[in-house]
Amino acid sequence: MEVSLGEKHKQAEFVLASISQLSSSSSTPSSSPVVARFSVVSGVPELRFNQESESNDSVNVDLRTAQIFKLSPVQSACISEGSETSKEKTYSRGITIQFRKEQESRAFHYAFEQWKEEVAVQGLHLQNETVLASKSKFDDKIVASSAKMYFHYYGQLLHQQNMLQDYVRTGTYYAAVIENCADFIGRVVVDVGAGSGILSLFAAQAGAKHVYAVEASEMAEYARKLIAGNPSLGQRITVVKGKVEEVELPEKADILISEPMGTLLVNERMLESYVIARDRFLVPNGKMFPTVGRIHMAPFSDECLCVEIANKALFWQQQNYYGVDLTPLYGSAYQGYFSQPVVDAFDPRLLVAPAISHVINFTSIKEEELYEIDIPLKFIASVGARVHGLACWFDVLFNGSTVPRWLTTAPGAPTTHWYQLRCVLSQPLYVMPGQEITGQLHMIAHNAQSYTIYLTMSAKMWGPGAELGGILQTSSCKLDLKEPYYRMSQPQVYAVAQDQ
Ligand code: SAH
Repeated sequence: MEVSLGEKHKQAEFVLASISQLSSSSSTPSSSPVVARFSVVSGVPELRFNQESESNDSVNVDLRTAQIFKLSPVQSACISEGSETSKEKTYSRGITIQFRKEQESRAFHYAFEQWKEEVAVQGLHLQNETVLASKSKFDDKIVASSAKMYFHYYGQLLHQQNMLQDYVRTGTYYAAVIENCADFIGRVVVDVGAGSGILSLFAAQAGAKHVYAVEASEMAEYARKLIAGNPSLGQRITVVKGKVEEVELPEKADILISEPMGTLLVNERMLESYVIARDRFLVPNGKMFPTVGRIHMAPFSDECLCVEIANKALFWQQQNYYGVDLTPLYGSAYQGYFSQPVVDAFDPRLLVAPAISHVINFTSIKEEELYEIDIPLKFIASVGARVHGLACWFDVLFNGSTVPRWLTTAPGAPTTHWYQLRCVLSQPLYVMPGQEITGQLHMIAHNAQSYTIYLTMSAKMWGPGAELGGILQTSSCKLDLKEPYYRMSQPQVYAVAQDQ
C-alpha cells in the first residue's frame, strides 16, 4: 500500500511512556515521557529520542540499519548499529521502548517501517527541504515504477530467450568476441547487464581471466545457474546481482562487454548505464564491446502506413455508438496514433533519400550528453514522392583489434528483434527529385527509461506559385519512444540484402 508523504509527516513525532538503553550501565527507564522524532539529518533518515525534561539528552538511531521488535503489546526493542551522524563509531545497541497504549505502539511500528523502507529508499523531498541521499544515479533519474516493470520484464527467461533467439544479434556478438579473442585472453571483463550471462560465457570462451557479470534483475539467479552448469567457463565468472550504478567490484576491467541497445539505439536509457559502468569500472583506455553506435535516418514514403494509422482513429468518428457520439474524442485519438513510433521491418525501397547518421562513441561520450540528443536533418530527395516521415535504424561497432565487426539493424539487412523504427507525420511533404529536405530530430530523455521525440521536417514548396516566396512546407510530430506501435503482422517484402 502506498502511503502519502503527508501521512508520514503526520506520524513523524510520537510521545512514548519511557525508554531504556539495554547496553547502558544505567538501564533504569527514564522517568519522564520521551518524544521520538523521525527526521533526516545530512541525508540520513534517523530516529531521535528526546527526554522531555532534559532536552539535551538525546539518543539517535540510524534508520538505515535499525530494526524493531515487539516484546509485548506496549513494549518494543529497537536494535541499531549506532548512529552514523554521531562522531564516534558505536556498536550495536538496543533500546527498549515503553508505549502508553497499544494503539500508539502500532502507529509507531508502522511509521518506523515507512520511514525505514519508503523514505530511505526513494529519496523524497521532505518538509525541511532536505533531500535524502538516493541510492544511485539510476534512482535519481528513473521513476521507481518504471524500473520495477523494466527489471521484472528482464527477470523472465522468455524475454532473455527472445534476445538469444535473435541469431543476427547473438551470432554477431559471438563472432566479435571469438574473432577478437586477443582482446579477451588473460583480461578482466565486466559484462554490463549480463541477463542470462551469455556474453560472460562468450568472454570466458575467448580466454578471459575473469568476468564479472553484473545484472540487476532476478535473471542474475538464472545466470548463476547457467554459469554453474558450464563449470569449465563458470569458474572464471562471478555473477554480481545489482545495478552497475550501485555495485562494487574488487578490481578494474580491461574490457567491458554489453548489449545496452534499445529501439532506436537509445530506448531503455541503458547506454547511460554502460557509460557509467565505463567510468566506474574500466581502466583508462580500456576496450568497450560495442565501441561505437550510429543512428541512421532517412525520409520515407509509405502511403499505406499513413492511411493505416489515420484509419485507426476512424472508430471515434462514430456518432451513434450504442447511442453515444464518439466524435468529441476523434482529434485526440488521431493525435494519439500519430504519436506512436512504428516498429516493423520495411522495404528499403521506401526510402526517398540517402541516409545520414549520428555517431555516439561509447568510449568518450559523457552520460549527460545522452539526456538530450539533437540531430539536424538534411537530405536530398532521390525521387519525387510524398514524404510520410523519418525512418531510423542503428548499428554498433565492435572495434576488435583483430577483426572490427558491425551489428546492423538496417532495412534490407537480416531482420533483428529491434526491427526498424519510423516516425510518421500526419501531414506528408511533397518533394521533387533533387530537392532538399531539412529538419530536426530532437530527443529528450524522460524518467520512464525512454525519450520524447520531436520531429520536424521541411521542404520548399514546388509547383505553381512556388517561386513567389520560397515558402516552406513544414510538418512536425511529437512521439513517445516508450509507446511504439509494433506492426509485425504485416507481410513484408524484402529487397536483396544490401551493403551499407
Ligand atoms: N547481456 C544479455 C542481456 C541483454 S538485455 C544478452 O546479451 O543476452 C539487458 C540486460 O541488462 C537486462 O537483463 C537488464 O536487466 C540488465 N540491465 C539493464 N540496466 C541495468 C543496470 N543499470 N544495471 C544492471 N543490469 C542492468
